[in-house]
Amino acid sequence: MEGKRPAVRRSLTEIKEYVPGKSIEYVKEKFGLDRVVKLASNENLYGASPKAIEAFRNFKDLHLYPPSQSEELIERISEYIGIEKSRIVIGSGIDGILEGTFNIFLEKGDTVSLSPPTFPYYTTLATIHGARIEKLKRDKDFQIKVSNIPKSKITLICSPNNPTGNLENPETVKRIVEESQGMVFIDEAYVEFASSDLLEFTEYENVILARTFSKAFGLANLRIGYAIMPEWVKKEYIKVTTPFPVSTAAIKAACAALDDLDYMKSAVERIKKDRERLFNELLSLGVEVYPSQANFLFMRVNPSFCDEMMKRGVIVRDCSSFDGCRKGDVRVSIGRTEDNEYFLEKAKEVLG
Ligand code: PMP
Repeated sequence: MEGKRPAVRRSLTEIKEYVPGKSIEYVKEKFGLDRVVKLASNENLYGASPKAIEAFRNFKDLHLYPPSQSEELIERISEYIGIEKSRIVIGSGIDGILEGTFNIFLEKGDTVSLSPPTFPYYTTLATIHGARIEKLKRDKDFQIKVSNIPKSKITLICSPNNPTGNLENPETVKRIVEESQGMVFIDEAYVEFASSDLLEFTEYENVILARTFSKAFGLANLRIGYAIMPEWVKKEYIKVTTPFPVSTAAIKAACAALDDLDYMKSAVERIKKDRERLFNELLSLGVEVYPSQANFLFMRVNPSFCDEMMKRGVIVRDCSSFDGCRKGDVRVSIGRTEDNEYFLEKAKEVLG
């Protein structure tokens, strides 16, 4: 390599490199195992609707750019959630929509409020933008507590929260939305697994609510999500987003998934049933496990738990590096029933 290295943005020095979890192949080889189950990324292991897979496969015009905002998909989403089309945007996952939102509102030195432990990408994005981070406290059930309303440009609310699995109290959300001077970004990545939602807040001029096809719909690999935002924000969003954020193959798959809601609902029902079974089994083993409204459980166990489980062929998420978590904090995704049984069998060995 020759020449000079120009300086990268100073804010990047504060960002730790992302360390991905171990892959199934790595664990198989390292421990000489035939069966390894990965319950670390909150994926839907039942997979996408076969109709979505077929729609993805049938798309052949790979040489053409996709539409910037697919009317066809926006119409389907509008029917699915009962919100008018003019307030819906499509993006490359909630990740992409978060990026767009930060690009619209944040100036260097602005404040972003978030409530650890929560989805780590919020902090990464805020840091890239040179924002100051204000941390909102949580109570012992992990619900956000607000004494003073944040004076920030963006407040992030994740409900159900990753990694703790709890819903936020609508009263708290209402206070933040009504009293905050800035935008409130509500992340409902896991809403299909929950008993209630915060959609009512999309009636406010300062709220963006984002959802995804990555979780309940099982399309994580296609990078497709959407948001409901006021029309004045949508106008700005269209200016800042990359011109073609989602491929047509992904759009077609998402449309087909919305035409096959029964498939998604049946997987969600199975996951919810298993979530309750695992929760009760872990409780009866004396584990400090928390009730969840998402497709994962959060628990506080011995710090050696993740390594011991990995040796036995189960990859779970060690959350000790999450801001606001401690050693021994673990998140386990709810997989297919056979995966969950395998997890339980091995967890009994490790905990017993
Ligand atoms: N928000 C939360 C709370 C998440 O857990 C995730 C995925 N891990 C995302 C957003 C990202 O979702 P997407 O795949 O739609 O970018």
